[in-house]
Amino acid sequence: MTHTIANRLQAVHARIAQAALRAGRDPATITLVAVTKTHAPALIAEAIAAGVHDLGENRVQEAAAKIAVLAAAHPGLRWHLIGHLQRNKARLAAELFAMIHSVDSLRLAEALSRHVDVGAGRLPILLQVNVSGEASKEGFDLPGGVANQADLAALLPEVERILALPGLEVRGLMTIAPIVADQAQARPVFRALRELRDELARRFPQANWAELSMGMTDDFEAAIAEGATIVRVGRAIFGEREG
Ligand SMILES: *Cc1c(COP(=O)(O)O)cnc(C)c1O
Repeated sequence: MTHTIANRLQAVHARIAQAALRAGRDPATITLVAVTKTHAPALIAEAIAAGVHDLGENRVQEAAAKIAVLAAAHPGLRWHLIGHLQRNKARLAAELFAMIHSVDSLRLAEALSRHVDVGAGRLPILLQVNVSGEASKEGFDLPGGVANQADLAALLPEVERILALPGLEVRGLMTIAPIVADQAQARPVFRALRELRDELARRFPQANWAELSMGMTDDFEAAIAEGATIVRVGRAIFGEREG
């Protein structure tokens, strides 16, 4: 079992490196977040033993239980929240996570900012944006990307207000691409997120827009080709999820 996780992890790192080199990028500029949702602490511990430091969960309560089991024995882990966050869990999320990828409204950002102990530093966040227009996807709505002038005009003042919140530090953007038959079909979605990032960096140069969290098991090579700096990979490391 240990070998399975370690071997799969090695294979994922090799695929990340190949995709980066094909794009003329340094593989060291891409962070792998191992997505551990639905998996038990014992299995997660195998991934940690194989060298994983960044772990992704999409539910606060589920993550809290795992962090309680794993944190003491493994100091220095970074937990990333990648799933939709309800405002009533903002306080716990601000305590537990090193980065929140799924900030999808001004009201959620305000709730998070209120619960950050600024003495310990601002909480790093990403703004999740739905650039594909798929109805099932969370995020600020910007179907079609920056060409969508009306939705962009609505988004900009919200971004400006989020940047002014004292507890948060925006680091970039996150998106989830639709499921497609061939990952090349996902590239326009990833490209749209990068173009939006470039536009926001032009308009709000005081902020740090470096991170693009995009790409999962079935499409991370396409995301890396379009500039992903964080890929979120579950099944390629842990196998298929049950249920
Ligand atoms: C589950 C999940 C992932 C990982 O998906 P895999 O297909 O298992 O790699 C990545 N990002 C988000 C937001 C997820 O919910």
